[in-house]
Amino acid sequence: MSRFWSPIVQTLSPYVPGEQPRIADLIKLNTNESPFGPSPTALEAMRAAAADTLRLYPDPQSLALREALAARHGLRADQIFVGNGSDEVLAHAFAALLKHDRPLRFPDITYSFYPVYCGLFGIDSEIVPLDEAMRIRPGDYPTGGGPVIIANPNAPTGVPLTRAQVLSIVEANPDVPVVIDEAYVDFGGESVVADIVDYPNLLVIHTMSKSRALAGLRVGYAFGDAGLIEGLTRVKDSFNSYPLGRIAEVGATASVQDEAWFQARRQDVIAGRERMTGGLAQLGFEVLPSAANFIFAKHRSRSGEEIAQALRDRAILVRRFNAPRIADHLRITVGAPEQVGRLLEALREILGD
Ligand SMILES: *Cc1c(COP(=O)(O)O)cnc(C)c1O
Repeated sequence: MSRFWSPIVQTLSPYVPGEQPRIADLIKLNTNESPFGPSPTALEAMRAAAADTLRLYPDPQSLALREALAARHGLRADQIFVGNGSDEVLAHAFAALLKHDRPLRFPDITYSFYPVYCGLFGIDSEIVPLDEAMRIRPGDYPTGGGPVIIANPNAPTGVPLTRAQVLSIVEANPDVPVVIDEAYVDFGGESVVADIVDYPNLLVIHTMSKSRALAGLRVGYAFGDAGLIEGLTRVKDSFNSYPLGRIAEVGATASVQDEAWFQARRQDVIAGRERMTGGLAQLGFEVLPSAANFIFAKHRSRSGEEIAQALRDRAILVRRFNAPRIADHLRITVGAPEQVGRLLEALREILGD
């Protein structure tokens, strides 16, 4: 606390990211990072970009990256916005599109950054509970309410909506923006990126942190009608004109162009998820059906806190949340095959005691 703070700072409850501790030989399954390295051609491009040209500012429009994304998705560059991680893109979306008279609607169990941005930007929210199976019910977002933001697949549950379900929410709410955060969609979800051409109220947000293994680079982007993108750009240019450095733009562009690497690694993650899900079910966990690079699971008889601590004692980190409805759940990132093996072995030991 300091008496020099602006008054709003006292009222904030900041987001708490999963920890990044320095423990030797740690198996880190708590922040949904990729266990595989980034595309080798992306790394090569970034090494080449570490050059004399770094004395110059980057392109404030990141046009090369937006054109590469446009080519991959069959869109135009003016339908794409890029930022310093999708968290920044989300922040700009909250400021540019989601502050209206009626409160912003989102699920009770979802990405915990959404309520944090509401606090920062002074946006009222209407919390819509998931059903008893922890699914989003599209009918719970009827016509006449405020804007909507939904993560699909949802976080931290991993449970996906189908494209038809997402579009039913978008169609029911033509007069307010609907933001779909598809951070995990590449691991088996159905994307609505192609649908932005039909729905001027639909904004879809992606990140390079999960399926492209570039969490350390900080690159996220959004797809939407050129009008929505212009709104985001106005906010960005009122905040930071150069969100992406030269190295980030070059690396992200090369990653988008390495389709073979992308397809192979996402299949590896999906295979690891299926193995992890089967192993956990055998050990007495109820595992929600996940279309993400993590699973959300609860043991039949042991508390989440107890299991998380016992794993930590064995240098395996998983994520747990304190919200009452999910206090016994663990969110476990899909690791490399060897890590999945060590996780299941440790759980066998812990649950056998
Ligand atoms: C990880 C995550 C993000 C943020 O990703 P960055 O691009 O690394 O900022 C956004 N939304 C959800 C749901 C996430 O899980």
